[in-house]
Amino acid sequence: GHELDPRDPVDLDASLTDEEREIRDTVRRFVAERVLPDIGERYEQATFDSSIATELGSMGVLGMHLDGYGCPGMSATSYGVVCAELEYGDSGVRSFASVQGSLAMKAIHAFGSEDQKHQWLPPMAAGEKIGCFGLTEPDAGSNPAQMRTTARRDGDDWVLDGTKMWITNGCLSDVAVVWARTDDGIRGFLVDTATEGFESRPMTHKLSLRASVTSELHLDGCRVPDSARLPEAAGLRAPLACLAEARFGIIWGTTGAARACYEAALDYATTREQFGKPIAGFQLTQRKLVEMAVDLGRAQLLALHLGRRKDERGLAAEEVSIGKLANGRTAIEIARTARGVLGASGISLEYPVIRHMTNLESVITYEGTEEIHTLAIGRALTGENAIT
Ligand code: FAD
Repeated sequence: GHELDPRDPVDLDASLTDEEREIRDTVRRFVAERVLPDIGERYEQATFDSSIATELGSMGVLGMHLDGYGCPGMSATSYGVVCAELEYGDSGVRSFASVQGSLAMKAIHAFGSEDQKHQWLPPMAAGEKIGCFGLTEPDAGSNPAQMRTTARRDGDDWVLDGTKMWITNGCLSDVAVVWARTDDGIRGFLVDTATEGFESRPMTHKLSLRASVTSELHLDGCRVPDSARLPEAAGLRAPLACLAEARFGIIWGTTGAARACYEAALDYATTREQFGKPIAGFQLTQRKLVEMAVDLGRAQLLALHLGRRKDERGLAAEEVSIGKLANGRTAIEIARTARGVLGASGISLEYPVIRHMTNLESVITYEGTEEIHTLAIGRALTGENAIT
């Protein structure tokens, strides 16, 4: 009969296709060799290793679920599996890939002109050009409809003014997808970051997602041609569609962070001895390990279910919300439990747990907070809108 694998308690492996296992193993090796050795140090120094961009590109994981223009066109489930492996390394690494592929590239792929797609997508898929996605502002977070950034028509050009905040990859970017208010509603613009009047500044003092570049974008009379406007993007529906793509990656990504914490706790508990035996031999520790394993397995099965449904027939926005809410919560619970199992070591960057635990505070905030997803699901259940 089948024996339970402590590292894969619900045998997720058995439900993956050969193609999914192959890309998983490739990315797992990459994370072991290129991320894990120095991620603690990077976290402490608050630096991101941007040299991994082209390596991620070579593995075909940037915009991997998009078709054409140098993108691999793989399944949503494969993309999810990759997100889990990247986030096993660090949420910052997964965030880099999410923003590049699901936000910036997705915006160009879904709403761009042929010229824009040909110009940007192949080098972005290769990791040679980096993109960011500027929606959030100092006074507009959960409610992007209250954004203040404007784009004003001037002859054949557009002139952009405003400030974006909390923008992942901002200072690394060659192109910024900037959402701005026009006389005709919200529109998206591909701003070449070398354009006069565009400036990005690093945001410091973060105690979460430290090994990730987070930036402010300043647009001050930034003039772009009409060919920089995303022609098919009209209204907030466009950026929200991109966010739904990226959120799907988070449903899987969080299972990777959770698995890293659970494994760290399992390893620690079976080797650390107190009172003459491994702490794994105490009932209270076992209960924690069991809860982590059960919750991890459940989160993985939910991610797999939503991945398969997405590949079959697409997901409702609220189905994505269910996954993000449930797995974000589960991952942070697992991280906190693991932190306890490690005792004092649980607060040290020598182990992955505190890093994941603090990272997950960002992950449950961005791409829609827990509260917003709760109310989005609530609205779908009841027909009553409690958000606005
Ligand atoms: P607010 O909207 O001010 O919310 C504050 C609190 O009020 C939250 O608890 C919220 O849930 C609650 N709240 C708000 N409205 C309601 C309501 N109707 N009912 C109940 N509760 C409510 N943005 C980008 O555009 N691009 C990026 O690349 C990006 N990267 C990020 C990276 C990091 C590390 C972080 C932390 C954020 C990033 N963001 C990015 C921004 C992120 O999407 C926002 O932080 C998020 O949307 C929440 O907005 P806010 O922080 O302004 O909080």
